[in-house]
Amino acid sequence: MKGIIYKSTGSWYVVKGEDNVFYDCRIKGKFRIKGIKSTNPVAVGDSVLFELEKVNDKITGVIYDIEPRKNYIIRKSVNLSKQVHILASNIDLVFLIVTIDNPITTTSFIDRFLITTEAYGIETILVFNKTDTYSEEVSDEQLYLQYVYSKIGYSCLRVSAVTGKGIEALKEAMNGKVSIFSGHSGVGKSTLINAVEPGLNLKTTEISGLHQQGQHTTTFAEMYDLSFDARIIDTPGIRGFGLVDMESYEVGDYFPEFFALKEQCKFNNCLHREEPNCAVKEALNRDELSWSRYKSYIQILDGEEESYRTDIYKD
Ligand code: GDP
Ligand code: ZN
Repeated sequence: MKGIIYKSTGSWYVVKGEDNVFYDCRIKGKFRIKGIKSTNPVAVGDSVLFELEKVNDKITGVIYDIEPRKNYIIRKSVNLSKQVHILASNIDLVFLIVTIDNPITTTSFIDRFLITTEAYGIETILVFNKTDTYSEEVSDEQLYLQYVYSKIGYSCLRVSAVTGKGIEALKEAMNGKVSIFSGHSGVGKSTLINAVEPGLNLKTTEISGLHQQGQHTTTFAEMYDLSFDARIIDTPGIRGFGLVDMESYEVGDYFPEFFALKEQCKFNNCLHREEPNCAVKEALNRDELSWSRYKSYIQILDGEEESYRTDIYKD
């Protein structure tokens, strides 16, 4: 039978079969995914094949194969094995929840986040929350950010989890998709999810399992079906994203507006810094591109990590 992994607790997985029944499954002994070295062979969001077996009158499943992943997000293992931990896979959409103040979400954070989701190949929508608290000044800043990001192709929503403003639009964007809500602690992720689906209590408990002499704690993700055609993946580990390892020359490719101009740069390996005839610098000087985006880009190239944690952080 085919199914989707909804929950992982280390050695057991909850799989929703095509028959809409949830099965407790384990992994077939020698089953290993080719290509990626991960501490977990399968993760929430994976589409798997499993067969049922009856042990002591209890029906459980044995996962024996996995379908190719559309994408997946990882966290680096804390131990030294260089293995990664797959947090979730087959994600259609990430909502980055942004507050202008209380707490502050910096453009530097937004831009680092976006290059990560670009690298993972996951569509991202910016959700400006707490609009009910906006002063005129904050509202102007939000409109400016919305202008910057929508211009380069990111959809933006203005919402208030408290008044319900924009929640219908948010639900519309979620329709038919598997989504993740991300953003700093305190921006209103839980409140928003509750506004979208009252009663869904996302209090993912952190179960510590699979300890290797207490070297790291593992966080487990869980997927939820909502009352409309939408699913959410929640995990304490993906409130933020880890910056993917990338070479300097790749970074610009994940700034869509730079990537679009790259062909016109004189050098095909142009880093858009001091090179002559750089189409990105020329467009910047004509104010056709955003200087704050460019500043973030240079910060990333220079490896400056202030105001951002490269590790995925836990709330
Ligand atoms: P999380 O850490 O991202 O899950 O944030 P929470 O959902 O716990 O929200 C943090 C705080 O912000 C709580 O006190 C919420 O009541 C508040 N909050 C969330 N959304 C809104 C909103 O749209 N407007 C206002 N005024 N407060 C909000
Ligand atoms: Zn260039």
